[in-house]
Amino acid sequence: MKYSLPIPLLGFAAYSGTGKTTLLETLLPKLTEAGLRIGMLKHAHHNFDVDKEGKDSYRLRKAGASQMLIASRNRYALMTETPEAESEFDYLLSRFDCDTLDVVLVEGCKNIAFPKIELHREEIAKPWLYPNDDNIIAIASDSQLSDTQLPQMDINDLDAIAHFVIDYVKSSGQLTKPKSEAACCDTLSPAFLSVEQGQEKILSLVHPVEETEACPIESAYGRVLAKDVISPVNVPQYTNSAMDGYAICGDDLDRNHYQVVAEVLAGHAYDKPLQAGEAVKIMTGAPVPVNADTVVMREQASQQGDNVTFGEAKIKIGQNVRQAGEDLAIGSEVFTQGKRISSPEMGMIASLGYADCQVFRALKVAVFSTGDEVQAPGTEQKSNSIYDSNRFTLIGLLESLGCEILDFGILEDNEDLMVKALEDASAQADVVLTSGGVSVGDADYIKLALDKLGQIDFWRINMRPGRPLAFGQISGKPFFGLPGNPVAVMVSFINFVEPALRKMQGEQHWQPLKVNAIATENLRSRQGRTEFSRGVYQLDSTGQLTVCTTGKQGSGILRSMSEANCLIEISPSVDTVKVGESVTIIPLQGRI
Ligand code: AMP
Ligand code: MG
Repeated sequence: MKYSLPIPLLGFAAYSGTGKTTLLETLLPKLTEAGLRIGMLKHAHHNFDVDKEGKDSYRLRKAGASQMLIASRNRYALMTETPEAESEFDYLLSRFDCDTLDVVLVEGCKNIAFPKIELHREEIAKPWLYPNDDNIIAIASDSQLSDTQLPQMDINDLDAIAHFVIDYVKSSGQLTKPKSEAACCDTLSPAFLSVEQGQEKILSLVHPVEETEACPIESAYGRVLAKDVISPVNVPQYTNSAMDGYAICGDDLDRNHYQVVAEVLAGHAYDKPLQAGEAVKIMTGAPVPVNADTVVMREQASQQGDNVTFGEAKIKIGQNVRQAGEDLAIGSEVFTQGKRISSPEMGMIASLGYADCQVFRALKVAVFSTGDEVQAPGTEQKSNSIYDSNRFTLIGLLESLGCEILDFGILEDNEDLMVKALEDASAQADVVLTSGGVSVGDADYIKLALDKLGQIDFWRINMRPGRPLAFGQISGKPFFGLPGNPVAVMVSFINFVEPALRKMQGEQHWQPLKVNAIATENLRSRQGRTEFSRGVYQLDSTGQLTVCTTGKQGSGILRSMSEANCLIEISPSVDTVKVGESVTIIPLQGRI
């Protein structure tokens, strides 16, 4: 539910012929009787028109009004022409006056991700929607299903459907009311959190560290600048030659030959002003003499004794000369606070003459694994156990972000010990990360411990892999409870933890790189959730960027992350990508 509607939104999804409108016509009086004020959104065919030919409003529209508001004592209607493109669902929702409504019901729009009741009649003989659509929250049908946990109603029992809608509005209404404590994030129904919602929520609740320190440039790789870097010098310091050749005066080009008065190597200088008819043999990087402003390449010159000629060479005034301050002028802003330092920044800061720079202190991150079945590597394998891989994957991911890692090992399955360990970790670290034990219905103790610590929310993100995610605060420090499956751990880290850590490290304006590639195999997803497949992209023989998956996509197959060089991101509104279609990829180089 990525829509910014301040009131609950509920759809009715069905194939045509199921009788949606007739059902709603009977349902609406029951809802209004219960006091609900209802807004309806219905999707219609493109040639639909609410107006009638010959009416004044129709004539004015045809005469060129692109918006036509017609009003009377009892109602008004705003008709807006959209010849370029159909309006986006979210935009249409924003047209409602929500102050006077309790709920917006939607008829149709079955391919858009928002909560819906599926209507189904056996006689229509159409497939079910719920197995492929996570947005279905209940079913109204004339048959009973045994393979789903979703609430079921009889499609002919309008009272039951009305009750469901009233309860839904009541419970979502409470959830959408703003909460006072800013650190808490259970304001959204856990069933309907999109990847973007989770990211936004997390980013709004984490803050950069405040402490800064001086760091020698040679140790600054991966650190984040805490202060703007202003150039104290001109780079280059002096005007110099960009080539090996001969320096001459730009207003002295019309001659056949010049007298070579000196030879200047880098690190040296010719300290007399150059005169007309003179040239100085000059090496790359050596200062250009006073009056000289043009360098002719050695390859275009022929020198005999102290006499040089440039033959047919076309000479442009100012060529092959680097001006003082051309790269960086004295006093100019070279980098702004929040920039992450990598190789070029290290070199550039050094080129200004600084031996160190002011950076944010390193972020301390505590890592745990949880689960009774999880065993540390390096010990003899017990029956019914698996070696802990997540902790090491996470350590690698944290390492690549330049975090200081506090490894708390595997948490014993004991509620009190866990509470203690989590509190300890949050006292020592800036962020606490765990993996495992956060799925709905999971019996692990970590959930009990987290419940006790308070301010932790258990989300279900509409994504695969990585649906369960716990997020909150322990003693004021952000806490992430990642899923247990090894691929889900990485995908959740990339989507939720990495952006948060970067913000906490003080980095600004970071955005993950996303590009488009052409799919070379059919990719399946599911409407309503974001699918992250592990992919391999490459340039094909025609120079086109293409992508295929690494094969089997089980969320326990960590090898798929090792083989991948990108994640393929399929958005919630798409359920299949066919060969030849374009798809978004997230390159992983430098991130894992
Ligand atoms: P859970 O979310 O606890 O239900 O875990 C989901 C799956 O991930 C289970 O198969 C776990 O055994 C596995 N898992 C949990 N923690 C780890 C870990 N630290 N290393 C490797 N696999 C794990
Ligand atoms: Mg578990």
